[in-house]
Amino acid sequence: MSGPRPPVAVVGTGIMGGAMAGRLADHGFAVTAWNRDRAKAEALAPRGASAAATAGEAVAGAEVVLTMLADGPVTEEVMGPALARARPGALWLQMATVGIDATAALAGLAARAGLGFVDAPVLGTRQPAEEGALTVLASGPAQLRARADPVFEVVGRRVAWLGEVGAGSAMKLVVNTWIAALVGGLAESVALAEAVGADPAAFVDLVEGTAVGAPYVRAKGTMMIQRDYPPAFPLRWLGKDVALAVGAARGHGLDLRVAPAVGELLAAAAPDHGGQDMSAVVEALRPPAQERP
Ligand code: NAP
Repeated sequence: MSGPRPPVAVVGTGIMGGAMAGRLADHGFAVTAWNRDRAKAEALAPRGASAAATAGEAVAGAEVVLTMLADGPVTEEVMGPALARARPGALWLQMATVGIDATAALAGLAARAGLGFVDAPVLGTRQPAEEGALTVLASGPAQLRARADPVFEVVGRRVAWLGEVGAGSAMKLVVNTWIAALVGGLAESVALAEAVGADPAAFVDLVEGTAVGAPYVRAKGTMMIQRDYPPAFPLRWLGKDVALAVGAARGHGLDLRVAPAVGELLAAAAPDHGGQDMSAVVEALRPPAQERP
């Protein structure tokens, strides 16, 4: 990476934020991390990031603030008070998936605190985040690009600047609606195969490499067949994104049909599998285990 490496605060070091903070530290940024469960921020110490006691403490010395919290309400709850300690003129890169309305609300918070704001949700899960191979869906004032890009280039392989604040979040909902359809449809084919006595592993083999064989069929299909769901994209967050997409569509006079059906499956699976990978949605389709006599 060329160019300046400003001090960066990473607020929210879960699966994605932790991986992004680690990469920024590896690339020479002075990273201060805050996480509700402090152990996850402290785990970044061997890579050179320091853990702050509060989000306010993390943002106080930062020229760039990167948020990667669960959703809009959590981001507002954490950043509302923290912004009082932010440097005027600092840049806030909001990279969690919070939807269109919350993005507008957070941009308002940033403006009132005198911060620049870039809406920049990402495509890609745990592994791409660890490899710096995310796609960043950036939107915001053109004059902030030069300050945002050095950070985006470390966490992402591709940076798409899409327009004014909100354009990135709109595209993120479009993409995740597609992911929901893909994973919901895949779960249904796996469950159907199991029910009718077709080999689900053979289904994965048969479609691989064909026009209908997305790489997700093997990646997520294998997890479904093996009933093993280590979280890359936690199921509860896909449920959140489906709800955001359905709400955004409704606000524009469009009734989505497939996404709400997948949303129902995700909601049914969430009590037992919310923190597991979204591929656990298949559990909502499988018939209850037969009781043995
Ligand atoms: P995660 O590992 O569950 O991280 C969620 C983060 O939010 C953690 O830092 C968590 O803190 C924090 N948090 C949750 N509730 C909180 C609260 N009430 N107060 C303070 N902090 C709270 O999830 P993730 O996968 O990194 O996802 C983070 C964001 O990225 C989400 O918006 C998700 O939709 C988006 N995203 C995820 C992926 C993916 O594949 N994983 C891909 C693209 C976008 P604790 O650690 O203390 O719980």
